[in-house]
Amino acid sequence: MSGVRGREITVLGAGVAGLAVARALALRGAQVTVLERAEAIREVGAGLQITPNGAAVLRGLGLGPALEAATQRAAAVELRDGRDDSLVLRMDLAKLRPGLGWHLTHRADLIDLLADGARAAGVQIRLLQQIDSVDLSGPCPRLLTAQGAESLAPLLIGADGLHSRVRGALNGVVPPFFTGQVAWRATIPAEPGAAPVAEVHMGAGRHLVSYPLRGGTLRNIVAVEERSRWVEEGWNQPDDPLALQLAFESFGPRVRGWLDQVRELWLWGLFRHPVAEVWGRVLPEGMAVILGDAAHPTLPFLAQGANMALEDAWALAALLDRHGPGAATLAAYQDARVRRCDRIVSAANGNARAYHLSGVARGVAHLGLRVAGRIAPGAGLARFDWIHGMDVTRDFP
Ligand SMILES: Cc1cc2nc3c(=O)[nH]c(=O)nc-3n(C[C@H](O)[C@H](O)[C@H](O)COP(=O)(O)OP(=O)(O)OC[C@H]3O[C@@H](n4cnc5c(N)ncnc54)[C@H](O)[C@@H]3O)c2cc1C
Repeated sequence: MSGVRGREITVLGAGVAGLAVARALALRGAQVTVLERAEAIREVGAGLQITPNGAAVLRGLGLGPALEAATQRAAAVELRDGRDDSLVLRMDLAKLRPGLGWHLTHRADLIDLLADGARAAGVQIRLLQQIDSVDLSGPCPRLLTAQGAESLAPLLIGADGLHSRVRGALNGVVPPFFTGQVAWRATIPAEPGAAPVAEVHMGAGRHLVSYPLRGGTLRNIVAVEERSRWVEEGWNQPDDPLALQLAFESFGPRVRGWLDQVRELWLWGLFRHPVAEVWGRVLPEGMAVILGDAAHPTLPFLAQGANMALEDAWALAALLDRHGPGAATLAAYQDARVRRCDRIVSAANGNARAYHLSGVARGVAHLGLRVAGRIAPGAGLARFDWIHGMDVTRDFP
């Protein structure tokens, strides 16, 4: 049997990567089961940006209309001086890249869209399946649940995120290091008529990104601060709104007005993980492979976590279908993905430094951006065309 038609495939994790790869494989005729530890696919997370490279995958998966219905297209990205809200650079997406879609969405809406798409393609999603360990020492991948149940998964796809068990089984566990930055995320009601613009307010040692969600009814806020105190890496740690308000008290009235409305928020520590060295292993009677955050967790400064996960999902499904499980797929998959993901992760690492400048360096940089914005308005965006301009569905038809 070549390709994936009729093959049983187990995907660990019902996040963006897991649900996307599950639908992609099911559409190609595979019998896919997704194992997810949560008790429900429910409202978790806050805003995500789907950039054109991610949107191309959703369209390729036949989810274009659902994407348009569940998201709002961003008109522009604006860099602003945090002290007084003044505009430093506006990148007019609608004018500069009219054919491409930048979508603003709530993570929960993207997960719903993908879960519906996976189920419609015949994927079985099994909830409350916490996998405690993954054993790749035998002829076939073996999963152990928290309750002690064992099962074999001849074709195992690890889409189990930041603390992936499959990545651990392939690479060992390499402790990440704290970047000295934390991020808060929150949503507040959006002001009526809020324009679909992603605003980045930059200050010394901190910045805040905000954009409207859900037809302009909600506003997403992600605020990043440099600090030496260690904070846990996780998505569910609540914090006191006062801590966020104090951290941004020197910012302009627009930002302070938003932060006054925050009632509930989550804090997460930003850690750097190396891109995994080993993305998969072929066993005598099986194969295990990883994608998404399991392979290349990234800092959020280029909004590429979900987009890289979508690209991986498409490439992996197409290659498995082309070559079948085995060494040829693994080599082609790593070849297609590792360098690109590594480059995106490094570029995201660099972006925080540029946003957090202070003193003279900040004055010079802001002036440079203001002038550049007037002389060559497309230049800011063109710097990232190598990210947004890629269409993995064309490369792997
Ligand atoms: C709860 C949550 C909230 C998030 N909120 C945001 C946000 O607000 N903004 C943002 O930019 N990014 C957020 N992210 C991260 C973002 O979704 C990912 O960076 C990106 O989409 C890549 O997705 P992924 O599918 O590789 O990993 P993830 O989206 O992290 O999905 C991994 C999935 O695997 C499941 N899983 C993990 N370990 C096991 C296990 N041992 N057994 C069974 N299942 C397991 C998890 O429950 C999860 O559903 C969030 C992720 C999570 C899990």
